[in-house]
Order: sequence, then structure tokens, then C-alpha cells
Amino acid sequence: YPLSIIHCSTHELKMRTYQLIAPAKINLYLEIVGDRPDGYHELVMILQSIDLGDRLEIRSNGTQKINLHCNHPLVPLDNTNIAYKAAQLMSEEFTQAFANYGGVNITIDKQIPVAAGLAGGSTDGAAVLVGLNLLWELGLTIPQLQKLGEKLGSDVPFCVSGGTAIATGRGEKLDAIQDLDNLWVVLAKYNNLSVSTPWAYKTYKQQFAETYINDREEIKSRSSHIHSGSFVQAISHKDGEKIGQLLHNDLEKVVLPEYTQVTQLRDILQQAGGLGTMMSGSGPTVFTLCQSQTEAETIKKIAREKIEDPNLEFWVTQLSSNGVSIISE
Ligand code: ATP
Repeated sequence: YPLSIIHCSTHELKMRTYQLIAPAKINLYLEIVGDRPDGYHELVMILQSIDLGDRLEIRSNGTQKINLHCNHPLVPLDNTNIAYKAAQLMSEEFTQAFANYGGVNITIDKQIPVAAGLAGGSTDGAAVLVGLNLLWELGLTIPQLQKLGEKLGSDVPFCVSGGTAIATGRGEKLDAIQDLDNLWVVLAKYNNLSVSTPWAYKTYKQQFAETYINDREEIKSRSSHIHSGSFVQAISHKDGEKIGQLLHNDLEKVVLPEYTQVTQLRDILQQAGGLGTMMSGSGPTVFTLCQSQTEAETIKKIAREKIEDPNLEFWVTQLSSNGVSIISE
């Protein structure tokens, strides 16, 4: 049966197509605990999927090639794209399936702003892992896909399963917690501004290395503390007010002083209301959590009126309990 795929008609090949949604994430909490011998940082994070996502189509092409298309000019189309890397990894790990089923055309409809601290690339990579698992009928479980995802990037394992999770290590060790899908969020970003994630971590290390914990046991206990801490408790009670007060991101300490436009945007969003405002990941996206869509729309309107800049973009969306989802076959 698998071999027949390669020789089947174009009509049949069309049947071998999956459409997926790859959701973005925000960081509700990001603490840099220390550095690691592998060059990454020891992190304690609370990650949250949102209802803003890229759409991917993964289609058998009957060749032995991986082809990538994307409608966003800033997204690379070569082997530096995480979606491409994911397909390459799968073809290397599952050589027989790749030989039997053949290559794929991957089309990314980019909805997530690029280099925005929203894991846009990582979630595309996660979607390709999920899509190829189906297309090549590999029968891999979510944890198996997440293990493969670790090779592509620290955020990829989370993007596979999504929802609300504690992430430790370099972000790849996950513990799912009570999903937080009752809140809304306004995201704001200047489309002419991006922050390099490696720059943000490097600068943090230069400025704050003396605060780093080096003892492995202490790092472990810091990582496990979060489970019983007030943030996770607030999440389990779906206590929006408390969650808003507890938002935290260590990377703000280096990104905000460097990017004054982001600081100003953060201040304006914070003053406009909502439960709490923070930068996501390494930025420059800033978000405000809200109790309702109406509140989120009001905050967007206030901020839009205060900052008259055509490069400033807003998104109003809901927190989501979904990771990569299949929307059609
Ligand atoms: P993270 O939050 O995981 O650090 P990010 O949201 O800040 O990521 P991305 O949107 O993933 O940033 O883009 C970072 C860089 O990665 C881009 O500038 C781009 O060159 C590259 N990239 C590789 N693959 C992709 C992809 N599929 N989508 C977007 N960018 C990609």
C-alpha cells in the first residue's frame, strides 16, 4: 500500500493532504534561573497557547523532495526554516516511510507575527511533525513527537501539545497544568520592529550572570517550586485578577531599556486597563490579559488612539487549550 502512493494519480495524491492550525504562545511567566553547559539557559516558564495560529498545508508531492512555500516575505524558505528542518528530521528518522510515501509540499499561511516572541517558527515545526506523522502513517504518540521536537527548538515540544504548561530546563521539559482558556488577550506589536532571541539572552547573561544559580540541586528545587506556588494556584482557580498581578518576564529587564518604543507601548496598554500587561518571550510583542472580548477591544481602541503609528498592529484573541490541530484531511 505505501509504495502505491508514489505511483498513484494526481487525483489520489491530492487526497494525501492535511491542513493544520499551529497556534502561537505567550509566556505568562519567564524566569531565568541560570546558564547551562550547552549554551542555553535554565528557565522556569508558564507557557500559554492562544487562538492566533498559522495555517499549514502538508501535501504528498510524489517526489523525494521537501518544498516550502510561505506568504510572508520575512520567513526564510530554505533549510533554516523550522518547518523545513522538521520535515528533514522526519525524513532522516523515518527513511523507510520517506522512501515509501515520498516528499511533501509544505505551505505556510503566516498569521503569527514573525520574530515577535510568539514562537511562530517553533509552532510551524511542531505542525510539520504532527502532519508527517499522519501523512506517513507513523503512529507516533504526542510524547514521541515532542522528543523529536526537542531537536528542533526549545519551544517545539510545548507547541505540539499546547494549552497551559510549566516548562523548565531550556523550555523543553513540560508539565501540563489546568488549562486557562477563559481569558482574552490583546497583543500589540510594531511591524517594523523585531528582537533577536539570542541577543536578548546574551545581554541578560552579560548583565545578570551574578544572580544565576549554579548548583544543580538548587536549580531543581527552584524549578519544582513553581508547581506549588501562587501562580499555578491562581491558574487552577482561573483567578484572572491574580494571574494578571503575577505576570513576570525577566527578559523585560534587557529588552525594555533598549527598545523604548516597546516600553511606551507597554505603559500605554497597562494604563488602558485589563488584568495585567507584559512582554511575551524575548519580545517585542506586548500583551494585556482581559476578562472578556469587550474589555480587550476597548483596550485596543484606547491604545490605538494614544499611539498614532501605522506600524503598530493589534490582535484580539482568546487563550486556548489547543496545540497543533488538524482541521481537514
Ligand atoms: P521564539 O518565541 O520561539 O523565540 P519568535 O516568535 O521570537 O520565536 P519566530 O517567529 O519563530 O520568532 O522567528 C524568528 C526567526 O526564525 C525569524 O526571523 C526567521 O528568520 C526564522 N524562522 C525560521 N522558520 C520560521 C518560520 N516557520 N516562521 C517564522 N520564522 C521562521
